Amino acid sequence: MEEVGTLIIGAGIAGSSLAMHLADLGEEDVVVVDPDLAGVRSSSELNAGGVRATWWREVNIEMCAHSIEYYGQHAEEFGFREKGYLWLYGPELWKGATQHAQTQNALGWPVELLTADEVVARWPVIDNKEGIAGATFSPRDGLISPHAVKEHYRSRARAGGVEFRDRRLAVGMDRDDDAITQVRLCHIEDGLAAYRSLEGSPEDGPREALRPLRVVNAAGPWAAKIARLMGGPVHSRAVRRQISVFASQDLDLSGQGMIVDTTGVYFHHESGNLLLGGYSPPGDPPSYDFTYDGAAFFESEIWPRLAARMSVMDRLHHVHGWAGLYALTPDNSAILGGVEGVRNAFEIHSFSGRGIMQSYAAGLALAELITTGRHQTFRRAERLDARRFARGHEEPEDLHI
Ligand SMILES: Cc1cc2nc3c(=O)[nH]c(=O)nc-3n(C[C@H](O)[C@H](O)[C@H](O)COP(=O)(O)OP(=O)(O)OC[C@H]3O[C@@H](n4cnc5c(N)ncnc54)[C@H](O)[C@@H]3O)c2cc1C
Repeated sequence: MEEVGTLIIGAGIAGSSLAMHLADLGEEDVVVVDPDLAGVRSSSELNAGGVRATWWREVNIEMCAHSIEYYGQHAEEFGFREKGYLWLYGPELWKGATQHAQTQNALGWPVELLTADEVVARWPVIDNKEGIAGATFSPRDGLISPHAVKEHYRSRARAGGVEFRDRRLAVGMDRDDDAITQVRLCHIEDGLAAYRSLEGSPEDGPREALRPLRVVNAAGPWAAKIARLMGGPVHSRAVRRQISVFASQDLDLSGQGMIVDTTGVYFHHESGNLLLGGYSPPGDPPSYDFTYDGAAFFESEIWPRLAARMSVMDRLHHVHGWAGLYALTPDNSAILGGVEGVRNAFEIHSFSGRGIMQSYAAGLALAELITTGRHQTFRRAERLDARRFARGHEEPEDLHI
């Protein structure tokens, strides 16, 4: 049986970042497996491309800020546009937003507080201020190409000796007392079989077994399945999120970053006369549903909210869209650390809508934990260990989008 050093299950942006950092730290014999390296179902290819550090918890602010600084150093390669986030708040959330802005500013991430009048003066396209109790503008946040970031991680990882193996689905594990001794993989034939396998019906293809020194769960929305195979606790659930792309002949938002309305609809310039917008209906049940509801979703959830805020949005035209999965935890912060009760298993997943903006720092944090046994650059990253749920030390973030 083939022996490997670190086996990373999942080659999305999290697994790819971890692989790069392990290679940078001199780890040898790192193998990443995924049934679909192209990422047809991977959230890292299906998101909105927003990056911000305006979170509530220090650990999330710090790790997003560190990541965004790295993106800024590679702005051209990553298509990073530092154009800010303008976030409009209704009265129920405004007080909290002002308190969190204090923490964000104190940690060095600048956030301006604006009145509704200042918003309409500075962003004349917003011509209805009804319901706006206040707004924040964070100029160092922005937009990015997540695909470019992921490919950067992968190519640096490969240069450092990491092997990415496509068409491999982890389907089983053996444990000896408190350690994983063997991981069984199913070979997937083609792209169609790859995403069918993620939907729970792996083809009856050839199998192989690996004997890894350590195993990492980086399976994104499928992390709960890998956690079950590992025999550790399960804290992750997948929820569908939809995005629409639509055209406006009258509006050029190319100079702006992300704008978030009081209703929770978020949108930004995509390319040409196209805009991208998303909305997360509250209370969506856990599912692996990738169905995009098409023009019906756009017309019921996105368009009316935009048109109510900006009269120019009365004239829009739905073009296309897609659905992807958020991996959520009970407190909406990621899971990063060792797996309880399994001494050679680690996990980095369930970023709860923050996986792109946190990916650089998250990969570094886990790579340092794996190679040195403790957190180094981000001491606060220990707060993302899943044992927090049992200990009552949660890191709650409210997800409005
Ligand atoms: C609509 C939408 C909008 C979003 N917007 C943003 C945003 O603006 N900014 C932001 O930062 N984040 C955003 N996110 C969240 C972000 O996309 C995710 O947090 C991030 O991509 C997670 O990366 P990942 O590597 O953990 O998971 P993924 O990219 O999903 O990768 C997981 C990988 O694991 C593989 N895998 C699964 N099971 C197995 C198995 N058994 N064996 C081997 N491999 C397996 C899968 O094939 C997949 O490639 C958004 C997400 C969605 C859905």
